[in-house]
Amino acid sequence: ASEADIRIVYSTQDALQIARDNPSKSVIFIGIGFETTAPTIAASILQAENEGIKNYYVLCLSKLCPPIMKALLDLGELKLDGIVCPGHVSVIIGSRPYEFIPRDYGVACVVAGFEPVDILLSVEMLVAQIENGKPIVEIAYRRGVNPEGNKIALELMDRVFQVDSADWRGIGVVPASGLKIRKKFERFDAEQAFSITLEPVREAKGCICGDILRGVKTPLDCKLFRKVCTPEHPVGPCMVSSEGSCAAYYQYGTE
Ligand code: SF4
Repeated sequence: ASEADIRIVYSTQDALQIARDNPSKSVIFIGIGFETTAPTIAASILQAENEGIKNYYVLCLSKLCPPIMKALLDLGELKLDGIVCPGHVSVIIGSRPYEFIPRDYGVACVVAGFEPVDILLSVEMLVAQIENGKPIVEIAYRRGVNPEGNKIALELMDRVFQVDSADWRGIGVVPASGLKIRKKFERFDAEQAFSITLEPVREAKGCICGDILRGVKTPLDCKLFRKVCTPEHPVGPCMVSSEGSCAAYYQYGTE
């Protein structure tokens, strides 16, 4: 990538503007994230089509939350009593897609918000469910989430994307756990336009991010944690973002 012009953008709108401003260049937006970000990526593709922008592409790496939750439960490595379901994702998909979890696995679910009091409330609701012995899906984050989700956002996603398999760090390829751009919009698909072959995920030597993401180890189990791997010099992806498990342990954890 040394010859490439790589920019960090705040949103797909910024990427579209770069494409408008540079019609002779190919502008590729790397579309990562879960159901939270997928609708805005879908909207950018529709906008590019409406405006006739010919040099805008998306490398679609979007992933889906409920299928990977199912995959983790199916692995059977974790003995879970309850799950704090993600607030951002649930704003889009609602709480209904988690209903298979209490029904098929007997695990309580509460969709949580982001403030400390939101987390405490969701934990209290989980404990109450577990004590009652009646696991269900509840919403603690009612100001942002309803059972059906955001229908407009879901329709946008469905228009532009189709469900596909996806490769997950520490788990491997999970069927129907990611999104790819529908054939109708393939001219915006960077993977098609540039014959991109994505290499399998490789972990840095000594990094146990995969085990941490599966919940079978914590950052404290990693020999590199704090000594070699820090937020200033991250060795693996869990230390890169402030939302990463290792970065959170670094910031708030105690030995
Ligand atoms: S990100 Fe760093 S601390 Fe976390 S598992 Fe990888 S090497 Fe260890």
